[in-house]
Amino acid sequence: MSDDRPNDDDSSQEEPMPYEERTEDGYAQHVTKHFTMFRSAGAMVLSGPCPRCCHAMEYLVGPVIRGPRAQPVTSTSREPMICMCKGDHPNRPKDYHGCGAYWDVNMNVKW
Ligand SMILES: [Zn+2]
Ligand SMILES: [Zn+2]
Repeated sequence: MSDDRPNDDDSSQEEPMPYEERTEDGYAQHVTKHFTMFRSAGAMVLSGPCPRCCHAMEYLVGPVIRGPRAQPVTSTSREPMICMCKGDHPNRPKDYHGCGAYWDVNMNVKW
């Protein structure tokens, strides 16, 4: 007799990481190291693996630092980011994206 239940013997497979809004010191550093930045339609896009869930994600920043008054770039140009991955994270509120990780990136570092 055949058994139609999905084969879930594979206990080595990790469970999906639940959604949780949290930040850690290392997130921004990870992002500075592993993300790439490129320009797209007047905005900047940061692309790379989320520091928490490791899923690929993209985050749109911008329009960057160039307001009507062309402010000089300050040394503390920080941009809040959140995980925008398309991965599976249980307990995630409806219409939310990502795993809940958030952090600030320093936009003045060299990408
Ligand atoms: Zn994430
Ligand atoms: Zn994820």
